[in-house]
Amino acid sequence: MASPLEPAFGYQRDQFDQTCDYCGAVFEVTVPGQKGHEEREEYHCPECRKEFHCRASNSPSVTLKSPRTDGRSGNYHG
Ligand SMILES: [Zn+2]
Repeated sequence: MASPLEPAFGYQRDQFDQTCDYCGAVFEVTVPGQKGHEEREEYHCPECRKEFHCRASNSPSVTLKSPRTDGRSGNYHG
């Protein structure tokens, strides 16, 4: 049985490791959630700044876990 009480505060919606498909860096993405307030939010690879999107209540936070592997030093260009 689901509780009839919806939490009024945010919660951690998701957390996962992602490998950037541009530079090969691995970073952890922590996605905040809040019922009724989730929409398309953007976050960026901490190494090359490539933009990714997911559903969240606010901008997800990213933590670098493994540096880029592509040997380049510039930022991602679409
Ligand atoms: Zn990257």
